[in-house]
Amino acid sequence: MKHTRHVKDGWFYETCPMWPGMALSLEIKNILYDEKSLFQHIQVFETQNHGKMLALDGIIQLTQFDEFSYQEMLAHVPLFAHPNPETILVIGGGDGGILREAGRHTCVTTMDFCEIDDMVIQVSKQFLPDLACGFDDPRVNVFIGDGAAFVREKTGVYDVIIVDSSDPIGPGEVLFKQPFYECLKNALKPGGIIATQGESIFLHKDCVINLAKITRDLFDRQAYASFMVPTYPGGNIGICLGSLGPDLTRPARKIDPGIQEQLKYYSPEIHKAAFVLPYFARKMLEHL
Ligand code: SAM
Repeated sequence: MKHTRHVKDGWFYETCPMWPGMALSLEIKNILYDEKSLFQHIQVFETQNHGKMLALDGIIQLTQFDEFSYQEMLAHVPLFAHPNPETILVIGGGDGGILREAGRHTCVTTMDFCEIDDMVIQVSKQFLPDLACGFDDPRVNVFIGDGAAFVREKTGVYDVIIVDSSDPIGPGEVLFKQPFYECLKNALKPGGIIATQGESIFLHKDCVINLAKITRDLFDRQAYASFMVPTYPGGNIGICLGSLGPDLTRPARKIDPGIQEQLKYYSPEIHKAAFVLPYFARKMLEHL
């Protein structure tokens, strides 16, 4: 096995200053890809028990074992909260998983997609076709570039914007700042919704509070959903949402039984439940 910075004795170790003193480890069978792009270090591993895994700068982005939870929640919570999403924008998400999920909504007519790193898209097409199939949808328009710059040029265009960003270290940092959220709001149609990768209520309290404050100040409604992804740090991640009208905490539309059967995590019940936060997190976000 080729030896890289994050691999030792057949195990991948995920360490990061954002969660000091802890490391998630997965047993590795093989390194399938290991190169640096202009923006980040891209690795794809075949793990022993969790399928293929994509890591960027040593941070796990997804495993085939549990990616459904993240992709389904980040896509379907905002899309089902909207009564009729037609035009949507996805920022980041170079693996294609959010596009795969968003494409299940037949009311969606256009999916603009802006990813900074084309190499993530190409690597995902090569090694993760079960996610990258999202790019095969003819409603998808791919733009390569900084999502913050892309959205700055848009006014009143989108019903729903989903930001599937990596952590706020490296190219994703700009996607956690107030000016970006102001541009997201400006890019929405009346009644529009944004949903952004909202880190963990256990491990990233300052980040969660900051996102909640920004969205509370800018949007008519703000809410935070929390759910499980076992291979993310602490096994937990959240979505920070802002709305120019619709209630975010419940679906505005019925889910087609055929679509429900294709999903593994999202359901109308878990949509509502994800907004019921542990008491410490509720207090943390109530008293901003
Ligand atoms: N939820 C996943 C996680 O953090 O584990 C994120 C997965 S997805 C692969 C994150 C993507 O965001 C990466 O492909 C990265 O290149 C992209 N990205 C980071 N900063 C960006 C920016 N400023 N504009 C557009 N895309 C960006």
